[in-house]
Amino acid sequence: DPYLAAPDRYVGTDYRRVGNSGLLLPPIALGLWQNFGDDRPFATQRDIVRYAFDHGISHIDLANNYGPPFGSAEENFGRMMIKDLAPYRHELIISSKAGYDMWPGPYGQMGGRTYLLNSLDESLRRMNLDYVDIFYSHRFDPDTPLEETVGALDTAVRSGKARFAGISSYSADQTREAKRIADALGTPLVIHQPSYSMFNRWIEDGLTDALDEAGMGAIAFSSLAQGLLTDRFTSKARGNGTAVPSRRQSVNDTAANDPAVVERVDALAEIAARRGQTLAQLALVWVLRRPTVTSTIIGASSVQQVQENLKALDNLELDEGELAQIDRYAVS
Ligand code: NDP
Repeated sequence: DPYLAAPDRYVGTDYRRVGNSGLLLPPIALGLWQNFGDDRPFATQRDIVRYAFDHGISHIDLANNYGPPFGSAEENFGRMMIKDLAPYRHELIISSKAGYDMWPGPYGQMGGRTYLLNSLDESLRRMNLDYVDIFYSHRFDPDTPLEETVGALDTAVRSGKARFAGISSYSADQTREAKRIADALGTPLVIHQPSYSMFNRWIEDGLTDALDEAGMGAIAFSSLAQGLLTDRFTSKARGNGTAVPSRRQSVNDTAANDPAVVERVDALAEIAARRGQTLAQLALVWVLRRPTVTSTIIGASSVQQVQENLKALDNLELDEGELAQIDRYAVS
């Protein structure tokens, strides 16, 4: 069955500008870290990605080692490129990264030039792409000169293999320094990808200021705390037997064994319910309330999760009263 994207796929989504750049992103993007490896049915993966694109999610986030095994999420996405998305390549923002452990030997991780550029070539091959839209340094490397890491991002852009450069999980100071180097080279380092959620607020302590000063935008990851900030783990769900365990053991363990976390999840779910939203929806609205946060990348194991999460965009307003209530429970 040849895929034809929904004609109304852009209706109703307000795309947001990444910092001062010309790059616009959907407020909710889809990440393929989990659920897109060879341990998951390809048909489900394909349904999720098609549904996302049909509903305005024009940005798909990947990295070299997403799977399992490493590289398989990019390979599976590469099959979707050929089967479904090739005619729409120019409408898509596709990102990849290098920084974490990828292959054995001294050039298989961190921020050196050899690793970053070899990894980008391998990612392009796996995804059947000529270029990615954003190529990230996945983590700061304390042992490699930052000039070399950012220089490799610059080479990626100049060689036409990436359109924009990004950094992930860099501190405020590391971000300022990376931006200074990028500006000197003329490299479009426009985006930072940090973790950010109601349970993890580290970026508020300096990083968002650094990004504002640099004219960069942020795209948040794990805004649902890997599934903890959803209605599936509330006491209510447990009480009436509708709690669905996560595929992530650490999430199940936290939800089951930490009464303080459960209390906060319950309280936040109640605030969400008063707004007519699910906790997942409120968690996404809350990270998007800051103008610096251009977008948030959700993970999903089903079309239903994407569908539920996208409905967050129906009510993005949070008033002062709600924000104050949330602050009582949204602590890192
Ligand atoms: P989330 O916090 O969005 O967690 C996603 C998980 O939450 C899903 O897999 C699912 O769990 C559960 N979930 C999602 N929606 C719902 C819902 N409506 N109801 C109930 N459960 C729901 O983020 P991730 O940690 O998965 O990260 C998202 C993306 O961010 C990654 O795919 C990746 O692209 C990026 N990322 C980047 C990192 C970096 O270092 N730069 C690090 C981590 C992530 P289940 O699968 O159990 O159903």
